[in-house]
Amino acid sequence: MTLSRRHVLMGSAALTGTAFLPFQLKAAGHSSGDIVITDRGTVTIYPVGHASFAMETDWGTVYVDPVGEAQAYENIPEPNLILVTHEHGDHYSEDVLLALSNGVPIGVNQATYDKFSDTLKERATVITHDQTATFRDFTIDAIPAYNITEDRLNFHPRDRGDNGYVVTLPGGFRMYASGDTEDIPEMRALENIDVAFVCMNLPFTMDAEAAASAVNEFAPRVCYPYHYRGRDDGTQDPTEFAQMVSEATKTHLGNWY
Ligand SMILES: [Zn+2]
Repeated sequence: MTLSRRHVLMGSAALTGTAFLPFQLKAAGHSSGDIVITDRGTVTIYPVGHASFAMETDWGTVYVDPVGEAQAYENIPEPNLILVTHEHGDHYSEDVLLALSNGVPIGVNQATYDKFSDTLKERATVITHDQTATFRDFTIDAIPAYNITEDRLNFHPRDRGDNGYVVTLPGGFRMYASGDTEDIPEMRALENIDVAFVCMNLPFTMDAEAAASAVNEFAPRVCYPYHYRGRDDGTQDPTEFAQMVSEATKTHLGNWY
């Protein structure tokens, strides 16, 4: 199959309007990805829906938080590694993991691992915040993900150990997936991120302003706002986010919904 691809080049912000539709994963998979190029490498990003995406690289393909219809992944290269950030249903699906992960290693936080079936546990490796894991040529650092606002602490309590991830490729290209978090110091302290996926929505994570404030501090080269729909009044506008992000970062609005 030949995939048609849209290009995201450093120095050319691809900022487009996004129609607001009721949240649903697309039934049919995306047949095209976005090529992200920086001086440390080139990857192809497939936004699948809400918090789920794939990153195709010269060393294999990484899926992050695959949920929804397994058929949404039909036109995406098969995974060589799957990362699960935490146990919530928009990030973790036992059925989808079973469908996609035959023989594929899964990196996951401890609390979600504990919910896995025995079959998934055999494929899974727990990654904690003080560890660096290696799968094939991928180096994985688990980054904390948690709420810090008083009335949101129960959604992602710090002591549950939910993960974000930094995946580093040979050549140095670094991808950050935030998982569900607020603008925590560990995010703000990230360095040398080529492409970042940063969550927003309320009350579960943070608003667009907090997300943009954090992004402006760690200054990834390219940023995809994701996970931005929630309860009606908690949905965040990714175009407003993009307007608050400084010139150092090119915001790309993926076709998430
Ligand atoms: Zn969550």
